Amino acid sequence: MSIVANIKEIEKETSTKGVTLVAVSKTKPIEMLMEVYNAGFKRFGENYVQELTEKYESMPKDIEWHFIGHLQSNKVKYIAPFVSLIHSVDSFKLLQEINKQAAKNNRVIDCLLQIYIAEEDTKSGMTEEECLEILQSETLKNLANIRIVGLMGMSTFTDDENQVRKEFRKLKTFHSSLLSSHPYLKTISMGMSGDYAIAIEEGSTMIRVGSKIFGNRSYPT
Ligand SMILES: *Cc1c(COP(=O)(O)O)cnc(C)c1O
Repeated sequence: MSIVANIKEIEKETSTKGVTLVAVSKTKPIEMLMEVYNAGFKRFGENYVQELTEKYESMPKDIEWHFIGHLQSNKVKYIAPFVSLIHSVDSFKLLQEINKQAAKNNRVIDCLLQIYIAEEDTKSGMTEEECLEILQSETLKNLANIRIVGLMGMSTFTDDENQVRKEFRKLKTFHSSLLSSHPYLKTISMGMSGDYAIAIEEGSTMIRVGSKIFGNRSYPT
């Protein structure tokens, strides 16, 4: 199937459920992204600052760019002028830096707090306690140039569906527990190519799909 057919297929499954699809285009050439763009799809996710910035500069300006990878504070300035949603906020320090750079650009940047739900310790994110601390902190009220709009989580990389489902359910349960006091947390970004069906069953509102759209990624060895 073509890239465009892949994306239409996934959108057919998800749009009726109110789930937003982010096409994860990391490592893929601009021609491939343009094929998708020309078919009318304008929401892409990238996980490296430099790659994202290069693609932003050479592509049409009505694209919604999502940053999904680990973000170093000293690199926030490069994406602050244009990024739509940062999925991967894993510390208060990073949030403060995003606020600072957003202010310099006269913008308000939407952010998700990445919660650590997997069993692997290779995945980043914060604990539920750290998340609560941020949401309840007085300092947060002074950060006028960021808006926390939800949570993000990545499951363990495993074939064990029960394990994956358990982790997504944990994130959804935590999210539900926050909603009454923090009703602005609308988004739960969970689910990738291999597990988005489970994630949607468990309450995801946003999925980040790469290889199922663009094919497998090859990295230089
Ligand atoms: C690469 C990546 C994805 C997409 O992965 P696929 O398995 O190719 O769909 C989703 N989320 C994050 C954070 C990623 O780094």
